[in-house]
Order: sequence, then C-alpha cells, then structure tokens
Amino acid sequence: VFKSQSKKKYEEVGNDKGLVKRDYLPSISVVVPAYNEQEVLTSFYNRTSAVLRDIGSNYEIVFVNDGSTDGTLKAMYQLAEEDKNIQVIDLSRNFGKEIALTAGLDHAKGEVIVIIDADLQDPPELITQFIKGWQDGYDVVYAVRTVREGESWVKKATASYFYRIIQNISNIKIPRDTGDFRLISRRSLDALKQLREHHRFMKGLFAWVGFDAKPIYYKRDARLAGTTKWNYWKLWNFAIEGITSFSIAPLKIATYLGLLVAVFSFVYAGAIIYKTLMFGESVQGYPSLMVVILFLGGIQLVCIGVIGEYLGRIFNEVKKRPLYLVKDSRDSCL
Ligand code: UDP
Ligand code: MG
Repeated sequence: VFKSQSKKKYEEVGNDKGLVKRDYLPSISVVVPAYNEQEVLTSFYNRTSAVLRDIGSNYEIVFVNDGSTDGTLKAMYQLAEEDKNIQVIDLSRNFGKEIALTAGLDHAKGEVIVIIDADLQDPPELITQFIKGWQDGYDVVYAVRTVREGESWVKKATASYFYRIIQNISNIKIPRDTGDFRLISRRSLDALKQLREHHRFMKGLFAWVGFDAKPIYYKRDARLAGTTKWNYWKLWNFAIEGITSFSIAPLKIATYLGLLVAVFSFVYAGAIIYKTLMFGESVQGYPSLMVVILFLGGIQLVCIGVIGEYLGRIFNEVKKRPLYLVKDSRDSCL
C-alpha cells in the first residue's frame, strides 16, 4: 500500500534559504517513459529498485508505455506482477516522450517525483543525492551533464548557440546541459500539472514553473542498448519548438524587419520620383526592379512563414484535445 511517510520529522520549507528544515524521508514516485525499450527495461528495473530499496522509503515506479511495438509492455506487466511497487500506464499509441512523461506525472502519487529515462543513460544512483537535495529544502534537484561523450563539436556548438539564443529572447532561465532527469517536489509538480499545452518543451516548462532548484553534476553514459530517437532534423524542430513556445521574438523581428524595409523603400521611392521629375527617365532599371521585387518577396515569405509557425501552434492548442489517451493501466500499489 502506497502512502506518504507520515511519521514526519520536519518539513518547514519556505526558502531561498529562509525557514528551511526539511529532513524526513519522502515517498518517491519514479516516472519512466519508455518506447521500445525491451532490452533494457529489466536491467533498468533491477538497478533502480535496488537504489530505491537502499533509500528505504515508500516508492512506486510508474512505467509509461508510449505505444511500443516490441515487448516493452509485456516486460512491464511481468515486472508489475512480481513487484507491487509498480504502476503501469499503457498509452493508446506513441505520443512522444514529452507527452508520455506528462501521463506518468499525472499518475504519480509520491511526495517527490523523479523523472528518469528507461535506457539507463541517467544513472539511478543519483536519486540518493536528489533526495538529499530535497531534504535540504530544494523543490527541484536536477542533473547536469559535465561531459557530453561521443558528441561531435557541431552538435556541441549548435547546442551552445541554442541556449544562448533562447536565454536572450525569452524571460525564463533554462539551465544548460540539463535534460529531464530530475527530482521535483509535490508542490512544483502540482504547478507543472496546470500547464496543459500540447507543444511541450519540457525544459522550458520546468524553468517556467520556477521554485528553488539545485544542480547535481554527473557524467552521462552512453545508451545501454537500443537506439536514440534523435537526429539533426529532430533537434532543429526541437529548437524551433523551444523558441516559439517561450518567446514571440521571431514575430517582433518580422515586424521590425518589415518596418526597416518599408522605410528603406519609401526613401528609395522618393529618390526615384525626384530623379524622374527632375531629369526625366528613359526606360531602364530592369535589374534594380528585379532585385527589389525578389528581395521584398523573400522577406514577405519569411515573415509569413514565421506567422505560420505561430498560427499552427495556436491551431493545435485551440483544438483542446486531451494530451494523451490511456488504453490500459494497472496500479498494484493500490
Ligand atoms: N521515449 C518515449 N517516447 C518516444 C521516444 C522516447 O517514451 O517517442 C523515451 C525512451 O524510451 C527513453 C526516453 O524517452 O526512456 C529518452 O529517449 P531517447 O533515449 O531516445 O532520447 P535521448 O536519451 O537520446 O535524448
Ligand atoms: Mg537516451
């Protein structure tokens, strides 16, 4: 039976280091989105539950099957059969990691929630330090990768630019080299659960929610098995997602670009009219005409494209569809 530790020995919180004092062992929900992870699921479970047992508080592992096409779901149910600390949520199809994660968060019952990948790239041993951070009064304890092994300099450089850009054009502070691997307190989860947007740029959502956060540094391992679902095209889209979800700077840039070009054109038009009136004009100027037309056409298309990006997002949000659909679920802790 899953319940909070109740025999509380302190909780007083407040914070930015005023009125802290939180020491008791919280109940833990570990949320794991998984898509085609049959090769690693059992080793993930073994390693993680060993860590959790070591910590010694009540815990549950919330497995979310994100429409896997392999034996992931079967493995989950098998584990749930043997271990009553497991909750299985089976989504009706593949919704993508962000949504699967959201489904897991919605079903988590613990006083603290740990988000972790199933592929063991996030070492579960860090959960112990997460809990310590929470006991020190932090609401969010997040893992920061110190080395990004096996990544090209192109990827590192583009990532670095991306962080710099998004930092400058949106008001939220997104920590660098940080994934979803983190612990969040119940109250920050409750805050996060109020953000029901479909375009879920999780790093941004976590940052938007705020609360006192503490980084923990670690070395990210390579995947244990299976393959990553990322490529450059996806990363590019991810960047666009991040920027358009948390900033309207591109729209503003479009406005000012338009304004600039308009001013420029007016001045140029004035000059041409003046010249024609004073000196007459033999028909000439095909090259300049062409350049101006193409230039303006190009700028207009780009700006329409930017508007289209936002319009598409509005379209998706306005439909108000549910974020995910659950096909089946099992909670052996109840
Ligand atoms: N994942 C998911 N749905 C998807 C893609 C990924 O639930 O559509 C899960 C995946 O099983 C893993 C986590 O999200 O637990 C991270 O995925 P991946 O390892 O591919 O991303 P990376 O570690 O390369 O960023
Ligand atoms: Mg991974």
